[in-house]
Amino acid sequence: MQDKLTLMIPGPTPVPEKVLLALGKHPIGHRSKEFQAIVRHTSKQLQWLHQTKCDVLTITGSGTAAMEAGIINTLSRGDKVLCGDNGKFGERWVKVAKAFGLEVEVIKEEWGTPLNPEKFQKILLEDTNKQIKAVILTHSETSTGVINDLQRISSHVQSHGKALIIADCVTSLGACNVPMDEWGIDLIASGSQKGYMIPPGLSFIALSDRAWEAQKQSDLPKFYLDLNSYRKTAANNSNPFTPSVNLYFALEAALTMMEEEGLQSIFSRHARHRAATQAGIKAMGLTLFAEEGHGSPAITAVAPDNIDAEQLRKIVKEKFDILLAGGQDHLKGKVFRIGHLGFVNDRDVLTAIGAIEASLQTLNLLKKEMGAGIAATAKMLK
Ligand SMILES: *Cc1c(COP(=O)(O)O)cnc(C)c1O
Repeated sequence: MQDKLTLMIPGPTPVPEKVLLALGKHPIGHRSKEFQAIVRHTSKQLQWLHQTKCDVLTITGSGTAAMEAGIINTLSRGDKVLCGDNGKFGERWVKVAKAFGLEVEVIKEEWGTPLNPEKFQKILLEDTNKQIKAVILTHSETSTGVINDLQRISSHVQSHGKALIIADCVTSLGACNVPMDEWGIDLIASGSQKGYMIPPGLSFIALSDRAWEAQKQSDLPKFYLDLNSYRKTAANNSNPFTPSVNLYFALEAALTMMEEEGLQSIFSRHARHRAATQAGIKAMGLTLFAEEGHGSPAITAVAPDNIDAEQLRKIVKEKFDILLAGGQDHLKGKVFRIGHLGFVNDRDVLTAIGAIEASLQTLNLLKKEMGAGIAATAKMLK
């Protein structure tokens, strides 16, 4: 049906009407007083979301722009870094680091398995002459629906004393607790089309004092993503270049909605939707892809055994106007992913589970009695 598509992918995520209306306003001058007021306000709101006193800068670009900015502003040619890789986005960190000539040691896990904090600890303990300049990882690995133990890994980095900890929190920020200062995270990258409930186009980067110290030494080439210019202009509530003015309107509206809901309520809503989704999937006889107990609050990946995941996704979209995400790379056709990130309520989760169950029935592939999935989900949503 026209205009009825519900996004249940891990970005872009659904956008509230208030935010859409804010986007639809006439642009204003990006050097005007009115715009400066918005920059000032959103900077404060971003600090609230990151639970930090550090600077949080806004870049016009997708989430990867913040990832790249993180690397090129804190590291130097030939620096040794430790990268966690247990999925597509961990792999992306490795690629960015290598693109800039860093020496990358990869700590790998199978897709679906969380990163092992003890492996980080061991390598960091052995690094007695402090060659490792940064530990880089993805908090919520969107490709597999696994949440990594950022807090534990960060504590090992604190014990090392020299290395920075750099995290992609693109699908964890605004979904679960990411207290930047309390956990001692040095750099957090995120993007607008995920937990922020606004369309793609803005990315955010938060830097600790230690990260700014490292920034002074960093010799990697940069211009558009030189964070020093963002920091300087941010001090005057401005931007170095023309930012996406309308996305800033949207950002202010969305963060205001988030403040009204409150961080704890946002986190518990995501935890509840994770539990409800997992219960429904299991009850209809399907297998969760992420290791038990390590599922992301933003996304549930499902490995439907002998079922073609792409065929199932197609039916769910055609019959029910719900877009699910497919598997990436070698998981294409083997996995589908349900996004429950951002502007998602109980109705969305219940409907998605019902639509998946009904689609399996249409395909004559339902292993359990029709309704078992939706009943299990409803029970978790009581
Ligand atoms: C979406 C996403 C990104 C950013 O991707 P862009 O397409 O550059 O916005 C980075 N990391 C993770 C874990 C993501 O889910």
